[in-house]
Amino acid sequence: MYDINNLLRPNIKNLTPYSSARDEFQGEASVFLDANENAFGSPLDAAYNRYPDPMQYAVKMRLSEIKGVPARNIFVGNGSDEAIDILFRSFCNPGVDNVVIVPPTYGMYQVSANINDVETKKVLLTDEYQLNLEGIAEAINERTKLIFICSPNNPTGNSINREDIETLLANFNGIVVVDEAYINFSRQKSFIQELTEYANLVVMQTLSKAWGLAGLRVGMAFASEEIIEVMNRVKPPYNVNEASQQLALQALQNVQQVNDWIKETLIQRDKLVITLKTMDFVLDIYPSDANFVLVKTANATGIYNYLVEKGIIVRNRTNVELCEGCLRITVGTPEENNTLLSTLQQYK
Ligand code: PMP
Repeated sequence: MYDINNLLRPNIKNLTPYSSARDEFQGEASVFLDANENAFGSPLDAAYNRYPDPMQYAVKMRLSEIKGVPARNIFVGNGSDEAIDILFRSFCNPGVDNVVIVPPTYGMYQVSANINDVETKKVLLTDEYQLNLEGIAEAINERTKLIFICSPNNPTGNSINREDIETLLANFNGIVVVDEAYINFSRQKSFIQELTEYANLVVMQTLSKAWGLAGLRVGMAFASEEIIEVMNRVKPPYNVNEASQQLALQALQNVQQVNDWIKETLIQRDKLVITLKTMDFVLDIYPSDANFVLVKTANATGIYNYLVEKGIIVRNRTNVELCEGCLRITVGTPEENNTLLSTLQQYK
């Protein structure tokens, strides 16, 4: 049976979190002399002399409207990379516990595990880039705290079968993290709707991809109240800065603009794929539910170096297991894609 108390690190279970000035007094007042800020102002126009809201309340309220999830089920982080790290720090005892990852997948799960001295049990995806459920069941032991599933998956681009993820959620006593960084580009439903069904589900999303705000560093985790409460205790008190909170709130009014870009990205992705397929060094293009495509080529490093010489940077994934010969290409503007394609057409 899943029980958060069996998963939490003892030091986190007993943690008294830092209590900031903003935590201790939240209401209206005219004189704030409680946080050792510069009372005169800041060299900038906006009120950056004050610490930001530690709980990002306004941003969460807007996210809540957009996602249909109560604010108490939302964690906001300095990018979703911060949420990944906080999950390790909350649940994984260094040198003792382990997590399951399913390569080829997003690299930060492994790096965060290494930083936190947590073992990763690697269960490769199948040749179709789907979960090997039997392999995962064999890899799990009583010290397995988290399973990371990225869907749509980076770098392969495909979505992971929904029923397989549900099988894990229903049978694993630890936490299943579903990283939906690319969900806005996908035809698949988000797992956010399943939060009420599964207490051991964490869904991660980000403003870095479809929302076009990679520079602001704003990522989200959606989960049960008890998981969110732990993440809030472990995070640095002011983990999302005031500029990012204000700008994210402003950007979150622009749903229509983002939806238009998503549509355009998908049109451009399909065009890119059609032309890439005509090139004789392109051996395969994997189906993508994201804003990038994984392209199997006859000579990934040769093509990569050629493109770099021409000032075009793609991601060489040839050294990643199950991605031999592959380049990961992000969908660009029509002009950028044309430049890429015409340059590739001259590759010998
Ligand atoms: N998850 C996946 C699958 C990603 O590809 C990325 C970014 N490359 C992230 C998370 C991190 O996103 P953020 O910018 O929110 O830290």
